[in-house]
Amino acid sequence: MPDCLVAGAGGFIPGHLTARLLSEGYEVRAVDIKPRDEWRQWHEGAENYGNTDLRIKEEGQGWGQDVEYVYQLAADMGGMGFIENNKAACMLSVLINTHMLMAARACGVKRYFYSSSACVYAADKQDHLDMLALKESDAYPAMPEDGYGWEKLFSERMCRHFTEDYGLETRVARYHNVYGPMGAYKGGREKAPAAICRKVIEAKQYDRRNIDVWGDGTQQRSFMWIGDCINGTRLLMESDCVEPINIGSSEMVSVNRLIAIVEDIAGVKFYCQYDTTKPQGVKGRNSDNTMIQQRLCWQPSTPLRDGLAETYRWIASQVGT
Ligand code: NAD
Repeated sequence: MPDCLVAGAGGFIPGHLTARLLSEGYEVRAVDIKPRDEWRQWHEGAENYGNTDLRIKEEGQGWGQDVEYVYQLAADMGGMGFIENNKAACMLSVLINTHMLMAARACGVKRYFYSSSACVYAADKQDHLDMLALKESDAYPAMPEDGYGWEKLFSERMCRHFTEDYGLETRVARYHNVYGPMGAYKGGREKAPAAICRKVIEAKQYDRRNIDVWGDGTQQRSFMWIGDCINGTRLLMESDCVEPINIGSSEMVSVNRLIAIVEDIAGVKFYCQYDTTKPQGVKGRNSDNTMIQQRLCWQPSTPLRDGLAETYRWIASQVGT
């Protein structure tokens, strides 16, 4: 009998989480809407089920059977280019969370993890450069990212009310930009670190001098290494922290700085062509890690340059240089 259910296991973070849980000796049931051959990672040790749309009530409800822990990371999501142009699709992920929470309650699971996002934070706390880092209370008064962020905030509250009304133990992480090997790096769902690595690799490969950049390059973000994300997720799941909590790096950089680091790793320098008509998201966003340091005695610590070097190597191996 599996101990854990990982929803969205064919994806980037949930695939790494499945690997970690297996390595810790858990038995894992891994579920995703994608057919097996499209999963980003495939772990033989797990019970794997593809072609399962958790938005459909009948499909979403059976999977909590016999498991003690549910990790709900399935969502229709991507970088800014995807979420700004697919708001309805992003909001439909509320059906996944609804059905998984109902199943977890009906099956009496011990604990339920939900992957929320820094996109829940209010827009006015991120509308210019050098803003203060976002602390957990900055989600209210609510004005999150349209579509994707509203769905995350609503689903966070569903977790809270399932705890208050039905006694289901829930843990909610607000992930800030996660990057690393096995993540999307092309096709429209990729985020800035992977997109910039790919553009630099391709420009080198075809001997081009320019790369195109979304926005004016001044937007500020923090980026979290996948290993830190998985460590934080496991610590949170084992903790007594019932409130939504930031899991994110506090090393804030501009997109221009991100490009400079990747250029340095690649040993090249390019001319940036800025396209301010493309989606670029909020001006400044960083993770305030006061709460996670207090509650979990931990925070993400992998330097951006180290994680990017490994991500760059992996994307180069995929692109074929
Ligand atoms: P991902 O797209 O790689 O993984 C999500 C998986 O969910 C995909 O494999 C997808 O096929 C699956 N899925 C989508 N709809 C489904 C459905 N109806 N039924 C079953 N499976 C379905 O994304 P990721 O980057 O690994 O993100 C994992 C979670 O973390 C998501 O909930 C995401 O919103 C959240 N998150 C990610 C980041 C980040 O930077 N990657 C930041 C904040 C929050």
